[in-house]
Amino acid sequence: MADIIEGKTLSRSILAEVSSRAAAAASALGRKPSLAIINYYADSPSAIYVKRKMTACAAAGIETRLLMPDEAKGKEHFFGLLRELGADAGTDAIMVERPLPPGFDVPEAWELLDPAKDPDALSTLNMGRLFLAKTWREIEEGGSFVPCTALAVVKIMRHAGIDPSGREIAVVGRSAIVGRPAAHMLTCLDATVTLCHSRTKDIAAVLKRAEIVVTAIGKALWLKPGMISPGATVIDVGTNIGPDGKMCGDADFAALAGTAGRITPVPGGVGPVTLACLLEAAVKAAEKRTRGEK
Ligand code: NAP
Repeated sequence: MADIIEGKTLSRSILAEVSSRAAAAASALGRKPSLAIINYYADSPSAIYVKRKMTACAAAGIETRLLMPDEAKGKEHFFGLLRELGADAGTDAIMVERPLPPGFDVPEAWELLDPAKDPDALSTLNMGRLFLAKTWREIEEGGSFVPCTALAVVKIMRHAGIDPSGREIAVVGRSAIVGRPAAHMLTCLDATVTLCHSRTKDIAAVLKRAEIVVTAIGKALWLKPGMISPGATVIDVGTNIGPDGKMCGDADFAALAGTAGRITPVPGGVGPVTLACLLEAAVKAAEKRTRGEK
């Protein structure tokens, strides 16, 4: 049976540290660290994650402000919000939830997002800095924000004692906020990474030779036992609704239990660590402000 790599313990330990850092930042700022969340769609899955983020922030001593703009006000209104929040002395961090209305997710938006208030590294500057780094040390010493989900992938692996160095890793999914940064970070940790996507010709061969498979495609129960090599580690980023109406990952967790060596569950794997990483980054943004850093 596969070992389960659960994320809740790691999440709790990150959040415990976040709470004490938030308290220290609050005494330096004279107010709680604050995170503004922009979410356009109340009926999208992002709304569930927003609620979780707000609850976790409240428990950790971080103030949240939820903005739900009217899509009909258009792209310029969204850009205006990003400018306002960037200039607002009472806002330390800004989180923009996807999906955004059609035509809003454009480079201009990510140029406008203040890089000093950007806990998920959506801004051009933070994303650019990440991809300019060649080593993990450069990423850490650079001190910039990095995408939380990709960071959670690295953190959960390291917490489980998995050193990516020298490993053959397949990352499935090439989105700008998950797959690509995860592949890059693992490369910076000296793994040999193959980044797969929907047009990868022989994905079966790539998966079979991988010692570690990271899935981030958003397809319920897609990864099946015959697709990985026996004993491989599966890090499942996907959050989907399965045929039974319950949350599940990209990997068929139950079926893979006899094939995978180690596997993260959904829920309870990468997700809680991502949430903790976001709060950690929001506090980091507040700390940077106390030091007057950009
Ligand atoms: P996305 O932007 O929709 O990207 C999906 C990627 O998967 C694309 O690169 C796509 O390839 C690839 N893909 C789709 N079907 C494929 C297939 N059959 N074979 C190979 N590649 C395939 O998604 P995302 O925002 O990266 O999110 C991915 C998943 O992670 C979703 O389930 C999301 O809910 C979840 N997520 C979880 C967390 C967490 O904390 N656990 C955080 C964020 C996201 P093309 O580029 O060729 O289209």
